[in-house]
Order: sequence, then C-alpha cells, then structure tokens
Amino acid sequence: MTDTRHVKDGWFSEICPMWPGMALSLEIEKILFDEKSAFQHIQVFETRHHGTMLALDGIIQLTQFDEFSYQEMMAHIPLFAHPKPETVLVIGGGDGGILREVGRHACVGAVDFCEIDDMVISVSKQFLPDLACGFDDPRVTVFIGDGAAFVKEKTGAYDVIIVDSSDPIGPGEVLFKKPFYESLKTALRPGGIIATQGESLFLHKDCVANLAKITRDLFTRQAYACIMVPTYPGGNIGICLGSLGPELTRPARKIDAGLQEQLKYYSPEIHKAAFALPFFARKLLENL
Ligand code: SAM
Repeated sequence: MTDTRHVKDGWFSEICPMWPGMALSLEIEKILFDEKSAFQHIQVFETRHHGTMLALDGIIQLTQFDEFSYQEMMAHIPLFAHPKPETVLVIGGGDGGILREVGRHACVGAVDFCEIDDMVISVSKQFLPDLACGFDDPRVTVFIGDGAAFVKEKTGAYDVIIVDSSDPIGPGEVLFKKPFYESLKTALRPGGIIATQGESLFLHKDCVANLAKITRDLFTRQAYACIMVPTYPGGNIGICLGSLGPELTRPARKIDAGLQEQLKYYSPEIHKAAFALPFFARKLLENL
C-alpha cells in the first residue's frame, strides 16, 4: 500500500504538484497506519524527531512537533476577534485539533463539526489522542459528510465558522469555491466571522488572491493572516478571514492568564502581528 514516491530509505518526502520542484522530507521510524478510505489515502508515521505525523494523499496534515501553531491560530484569531462567540461550526479538521482549541473558550455553548471522512477521526482517536481529545467535549456534535452540503442548509446559525480543510485537490476542492463562501456567509449570525485554511503566500499566490477576492466581495471586512508552521510547504500557511462586523486584526476580548498559559503560539501580540504581511503580499491583496 505504501506509495514509494513518498517513502524511501527511511524518509517521507512530501512531493506534490502544488509545490513543484521542492519537497519537505522527514525521517521516519515506523509506519503506524496506511490505508485508503473512500476519500483519500490516510497514513500515520512515527517520525524520528517530529513526533507522530498524519498525511492525507501524501500531504502532511500535521506533526506533533508544530501542530499547535496552526490549530491555535485558526481557532483563536476568529474566536478572540468576536466579542461573544456562542455557536461555532468547524468544517474538516478530522484530527480534532481545532475542536481542542475551540473548547478552551468558556463562552462557546455549542459546536457543530462536519468532516467528510470518518476514518480520519477514528485514526486520530487511535494515534493522535492529544488532538482527538477535542471530540470528548460534550458541547461538540459530530456530523459526517461534505462540509459544503452541510453548511448550505444553515441560515443565521453560527457566530464563528472555521474551515480546517485539506488542500484544493481531492475532497477539499469544493471548500475553495465561491458558492461555498456564499453558504458560509448565509450560515453566520449577524456580526459573525469565518476563518478558512488559506494556503501559502509564497507558493499559492493565485489561490490566496482568489480566496481574498471572494471574501472581500462577500463580507464587510476581510483580512489575511500568516503563521509559521515549519512542516507545512515553505514553512508557513495563511488564514483567510471574513467578518460581518467585528474588526479581525485585533482581539475584541481579553485573554485570561490561565488560558494564555495553556497556549504555545497564540497571544494578543501575535494576533495583531500575523496580519502584518510582506510587501509583495500586501500589494497582491490590495490590488485584487
Ligand atoms: N490543517 C491541515 C492542512 O491543511 O494540512 C488540514 C487538516 S484536516 C486533517 C483536513 C480535513 O479536511 C481532512 O480530515 C479531510 O477529510 C477534511 N475534508 C476535506 N474535504 C472536506 C469536505 N468537503 N467536507 C468536510 N471535510 C473535508
């Protein structure tokens, strides 16, 4: 089953046409899981230096080494930008990491979660308990199915929607299209906020510009944040945000000391700093 293009001589290499001519390689000790679901090829590896790693269709979704930066920023930027988030929807994110972070907000009363592939959830529960603990939260209701179809049926339901999608090849493709963003907007309560996986400023300029344009056209406010994730392509990933009211680039609520101590990446300072983009990116996003 193991794809030899990705696994060779004790190393996993993330080879993909989305970042031609480059590939991050991690040294691996053991293949813990290697199966095809109805949607994608799911692999879990024990790496030598970066903890357990989840890959879907040969693309790294997370490592224990640096998963906190993505999960914390994807969850806490929209949740702290909102003055009082009570209802939340998470689409994708079958590993449970975003749910773990959403769960840290006491003001959140209910979380709907929609993931297309239940095998990702069961694999995460087996091999990534530090992330899958997000599913233990009694406020979470799990739905298995296409996130685009799920959200199309919702109107005025959520204060915050977080789309923790894989890349726009395979089942995640629909989550990068304008009709999906129109559904997200309809599904928000007044003053609601969306945050979606925004790919890399360096590697996916067209995709980033397209997401920014869609959100700019549909939402009252739009912003793009950039975060460091060493094991993502190019070492960074973006978050595309849209708001029906609240300012996105600074927190609307104070973080209490107890919660801050639980975190490794997010803070009020990094919330603001994440929106300071390199000049080429500013020009790209200003001239859409
Ligand atoms: N942060 C990660 C990244 O970009 O590397 C994404 C992690 S998370 C594992 C991505 C999840 O999105 C996968 O579990 C995948 O099954 C799910 N997904 C992909 N397309 C989906 C869709 N149309 N509806 C719901 N979930 C979807």
